[in-house]
Amino acid sequence: MTTTHASRLLAWYDRHRRTLPWRAAAGKRADPYHVWLSEIMLQQTTVATVGDYFRRFLGRWPTVDALARAPLDDVLSAWAGLGYYARARNLHACADVVAGRHGGLFPQDDAGLRTLPGVGAYTAAAIRAIAFDQPASAVDGNVERVIARLFAIETPLPDAKAEIKARAAKLVPQQRPGDYAQAMMDLGATVCVPRRPRCVICPLMAGCKARKLGLAEELPRRAPKAAKPTRRGLAFVLARKDGAILLRKRPAKGLLGGMDEVPSSPWREGKFVADQAMGAAPVPARWQILDGLVRHTFTHFHLELTVARATATTGRLAELAPGTTWCTVDRMTERALPTVMRKVIAHAVGN
Ligand code: SF4
Repeated sequence: MTTTHASRLLAWYDRHRRTLPWRAAAGKRADPYHVWLSEIMLQQTTVATVGDYFRRFLGRWPTVDALARAPLDDVLSAWAGLGYYARARNLHACADVVAGRHGGLFPQDDAGLRTLPGVGAYTAAAIRAIAFDQPASAVDGNVERVIARLFAIETPLPDAKAEIKARAAKLVPQQRPGDYAQAMMDLGATVCVPRRPRCVICPLMAGCKARKLGLAEELPRRAPKAAKPTRRGLAFVLARKDGAILLRKRPAKGLLGGMDEVPSSPWREGKFVADQAMGAAPVPARWQILDGLVRHTFTHFHLELTVARATATTGRLAELAPGTTWCTVDRMTERALPTVMRKVIAHAVGN
């Protein structure tokens, strides 16, 4: 299957490859910096969303050295909206290591790549294959689906991962492994799609077991996910007379680490009690609790924030905790504000 599989897929890729901002022209080798940057951005985020961010990052920081020299806050604010901010902190840390310890050149081997912050097995394989044309097997969600179907693997995910990886690795050709990796990704994204796979136009149709068994649409199976808990809290939007809003910085480690936020009570599961939560207000003020909730979903929990708003009076401002700053609404885009906080501010300003 291997030779036929690879040659059919590559022939298809030569005709149908997607044009992507980080992808090199046919026959050219991609810049490792572009490959790495796009792969980090694409984790948990769609190609359509990543395109603009990728272009903006490259416009601002055309090389890994330039990115390493950028202040972390600038990187975090440019990242705002992509979510999973640990990735942005790792991105900056990784640029620092590549620029400082590797002379601005990405390592080419698995061991070297995996010492870099934020680079795991998948990203290392993707960089090796796409940037250095090495026969590395990069199995992302798209490829996982294609392999599960090709071999009609009925074990549900995540248990099926090891088998899928082993099968995928055996298929990687020695010729054009970089194009092969991208071809598998493209096939999963455009033909072997999650719902209604387009088997009739698929270059791998002849050897696909799921198609023969009529199982294509059902695979890969997934073990049921545990329900996410819901945490609740009270967010405080304190506005000065000139419209500037009080922000503080979150601790460097943990969820949304190092990002800006409006002050809030701790986010806890269980019933929300406004009087209790009010104890976390940044200053005593005439807090008005607004109607409605701001909802946001993180990887491990749903969040429901009630929003309280008040106007700052100069008399009480001396009581503000150190490290808080004021920011006008029109300058918010320059701040490293996560999406949930943008929603909170929009809720307070719009109400
Ligand atoms: Fe996917 Fe259908 Fe192609 Fe099989 S034949 S790989 S199920 S698109």
